[in-house]
Amino acid sequence: MGYISRNHILIILIILLALLGVMYISLKDNISYFRYVFCPTDAPLTNDELIKQHCPEDKSRRFGDLKMQPGLHYAQPSTQRGRTDVNSVTNWNAPLVWEGTFDRVLIDAIYKQQDPRVAVIVLAVGKYTRFLKKFLESGEKFFLVNLKVTYYIFTDNEQDVPKIELAEGRRISILPVPSAKRWQEVVLSRMKWATVTIEQKLRDEADYLFMMDVDSVFHNTFGSESLSKLSAVLHRGYYKNVPRKQFPYERRPESKAYIPIDEGDYYYTAAVWGGYIEDMYKLVKHCYEQSEEDAKNGIEAAWQEESHLNRYLLYNKPTKVLSPEYLWSDYDAVQPDIKVVRVSQIVKNYSEVRPNKGH
Ligand code: UDP
Ligand code: MN
Repeated sequence: MGYISRNHILIILIILLALLGVMYISLKDNISYFRYVFCPTDAPLTNDELIKQHCPEDKSRRFGDLKMQPGLHYAQPSTQRGRTDVNSVTNWNAPLVWEGTFDRVLIDAIYKQQDPRVAVIVLAVGKYTRFLKKFLESGEKFFLVNLKVTYYIFTDNEQDVPKIELAEGRRISILPVPSAKRWQEVVLSRMKWATVTIEQKLRDEADYLFMMDVDSVFHNTFGSESLSKLSAVLHRGYYKNVPRKQFPYERRPESKAYIPIDEGDYYYTAAVWGGYIEDMYKLVKHCYEQSEEDAKNGIEAAWQEESHLNRYLLYNKPTKVLSPEYLWSDYDAVQPDIKVVRVSQIVKNYSEVRPNKGH
């Protein structure tokens, strides 16, 4: 009575150890339980830290959320009124974006809450640096003006990059690339530079990426309605009344960009397109590898990286299709269904700016 022997102490110690063991095992199991509590599919995400610590693989989900703050005032949406002269949905149910299919106030508010960092990759090789000034100045007026944007300028001619005044939250980053003997080399190399740069740094610096031609000028708002997992722009030359068999896809089966004559949705331009950084990475890496395969086999796709892009987008459908408002051309008369020209390719003297002639 009242006397505790050594044996008792030993037994108590063993019981304590066993208890600790049980606690450890259940706690270990509970880590995944806590993960579930923190990251249920429909839970509101409170801050970046929580996402990073507990569900790093879910980071991109933040950009799928279409949240709106209470009290925002905008016109009531209608199920009856809307554009009737054009189709505003694809046959895989992705939005086909035209002026009049979205509410600027609402859509900007939705994407602003995501607070995304947007990267733009633009090449200015050889004489193409001359287009940078207008491209950047007009971009500052019209391109995603309420968001964080970094222009990544790839050039062989750094001293010719103009000094442009940028708004807050916006930056320019210059990356050196070698000069080229053929313009085809330059346009094809875009997939390579994008792949390498995403791997080296872009995936830490950006949430969305756009690829753009530098011989482009913004004329009207190119806003957050353009953002999605994968957004591609209809080529102005083939967006209506053109049978798919007439699209200038690569038609030689020997090329990795090959599209059979009876396949195809739309013909997309390679001069403007974008999406989530990881979706863009998959795309540019694939197209880069495919064009390398072609090079090994001594073939170059009809429209270089645009052909590879079109093949990719046929089998990996874009989540938004942007109308040719997002890339028109000063060479072409504006059509009645194009209510707003947001970006236009300028008229240029091809033989003067390009290092070589020919298609
Ligand atoms: N480019 C370049 N240097 C060249 C050729 C092309 O920097 O010598 C880049 C530039 O960004 C250009 C894009 O590749 O806007 C596509 O080429 P281009 O605009 O000449 O093609 P187009 O739109 O006329 O078919
Ligand atoms: Mn161009």
